Amino acid sequence: MAQILAKRELISGHIAWVAMSEVADGDMSIGNYQAREKSIQQASHSLERLHPGLEVPPINNWSYLTQVHGVQILEVTGDDIVRGDDGDALVTTLEKSVLTVQVADCVPISLISEGGAIAIAHAGWRGLLKGVLEETSNNLSATKPGKQTAVIGPHIGPCCYEFGREELDQFIQKFGISAEASTKINSNSLNLSAVAERICEQKGIEIIRKDSSCTSCLAGTKYWSFRFNSTELRQCLFAWIEKK
Ligand SMILES: [Zn+2]
Repeated sequence: MAQILAKRELISGHIAWVAMSEVADGDMSIGNYQAREKSIQQASHSLERLHPGLEVPPINNWSYLTQVHGVQILEVTGDDIVRGDDGDALVTTLEKSVLTVQVADCVPISLISEGGAIAIAHAGWRGLLKGVLEETSNNLSATKPGKQTAVIGPHIGPCCYEFGREELDQFIQKFGISAEASTKINSNSLNLSAVAERICEQKGIEIIRKDSSCTSCLAGTKYWSFRFNSTELRQCLFAWIEKK
């Protein structure tokens, strides 16, 4: 069932909510609108049951992207939500405007500005190398200056993320030796959360929640994992701000 990863009261007088769906809520991929709508309702109801007083904004407020492993960031403004435009990060200052990224191994991250704004990023290995997280943080700063915090959602762990030497070396060169790890069968692997943590450290972003559940270890039971079985199904991280 969907869970709240973080609830944070901001200096601006807002509350930021960051939540994660699970297999039990249903498929959140953007290919099948009806299935996604049902999954959103399911996730919303289970959160509201668990957290009396919480009102998850309705589906018409849920922006979504066609994720392309790049660094394009889109802002949700008063005009309309984002409906499937190409991009890998969203930012908004609007209240009750839900930002979403769909994942099945990649790292879903939300960045929260104490000034009263929220961002969300889809960070797979390509996006991390290209700088999607740094760009999202810069964009959030430009949108609303203020201290930033991060919430890192479940993603594939180094236990299961076997990785080629050549790409691994690119990561070590850019982010240091902590990017490299070993799988449970002792082959080379990439430690995505170590990379995300390194970037947050460099940008002065405090991580207020990190969910280290491995999507591949939990494949099919709690999360979906593309690496595990090439699934087209997705969980999603969703986040919004509202007035206190
Ligand atoms: Zn694992």
